[in-house]
Amino acid sequence: MIRMIDLRSDPEELVLAQRDAIERVLRSGWFVLGAEVAAFEELWARACGVKSVVGVGNGMDAIEIALRACGIGSGDEVITTPMTAFATVLAIIRAGATPVLADIDARTAILSTDSVRRTITAKSRAVVLVHLYGRAADMDEWCELCEATDLALIEDCAQAHGACWRGRPVGSFGAAGTFSFYPTKNLGTAGDGGALATNSPKVAASARVLRNYGQSERYHHVQFGLNSRLDEVHAALLQERLAWLHRFTERRQAIARRYAESIRNPHIELLAAPAQVGSHVYHLFVLKCERRDALASHLRANQIESLVHYPIAIHQQAICQGLRRDPRGLRLSEKHAATCLSVPCHHNLVDEQAERVIEVLNAFQ
Ligand SMILES: *Cc1c(COP(=O)(O)O)cnc(C)c1O
Repeated sequence: MIRMIDLRSDPEELVLAQRDAIERVLRSGWFVLGAEVAAFEELWARACGVKSVVGVGNGMDAIEIALRACGIGSGDEVITTPMTAFATVLAIIRAGATPVLADIDARTAILSTDSVRRTITAKSRAVVLVHLYGRAADMDEWCELCEATDLALIEDCAQAHGACWRGRPVGSFGAAGTFSFYPTKNLGTAGDGGALATNSPKVAASARVLRNYGQSERYHHVQFGLNSRLDEVHAALLQERLAWLHRFTERRQAIARRYAESIRNPHIELLAAPAQVGSHVYHLFVLKCERRDALASHLRANQIESLVHYPIAIHQQAICQGLRRDPRGLRLSEKHAATCLSVPCHHNLVDEQAERVIEVLNAFQ
């Protein structure tokens, strides 16, 4: 079976380094918010080109904490995309704010600025922009829109570690950028982890308070915070995996280039190639097919796994039907949900497997 991700095939050198990292933490006798977390925060801040990174429990909490640290909550509307992990919208609700949904651009499946403009009201306070599948969104457009409309920009970078726009990493453009280190993400740990990146000392300080029960100092609670701390073991593992991130990303990009030049089938459409000035780190390689389920069956019959990101747009979830949305509807998101399919594209996929994926996709009738 050619799998969507295969962490068992990680390089032996990395496996051994991770084993040593875990031992280092065990012998230190300090397990939550310590020297390893501080060291990783520093490394990740440098990689993201920001002043501060705050390690938290997971990617969803990172969004909630980022919103709250920006002063967004009850009574505020936050605009986002219906084509995302449910966590994006859940985090907005957890922050006490009201999610509002705008439609996507069909060529990239990323939130559309035109649709966002149609959803803005006097209550709108922020946009959570998802760099979906690993593609850096057009940050010229987004920075201009958020500046002109006075909306805080929160970048959900859970799928886009290291993606750049005009050479600048995602997560460094908005008021905050949020990351997930869930095992299957481009940078992942052996469990849950997350972080937020920011250039604002105020947002960073507030996030540090919020992640630890809202304590400003021990036993002094200045906010009703969360318990959302990054563990030392995860921070130690992330330092080792970060040393490989660039190589792993290049591998994903090489596979994606090969797919883009070789997938030739009238039934299959690819998403837009990355922009000249924007990179794509291919957390997922996504194609579109009118007979998506038949294509998935054809792949499975040929021992190739595939997944759908995402089969149900947020507003199509029963509990989300009341959410306000673009008055023109969210038809492009619905169409994408019905036709998209993600095929294997990960750092341990070998050439032979990539060629087999191409061959089987091209043989679909
Ligand atoms: C994975 C993911 C999240 C949530 O991250 P967790 O660490 O699982 O909480 C949020 N947004 C997007 C776009 C994701 O892919």
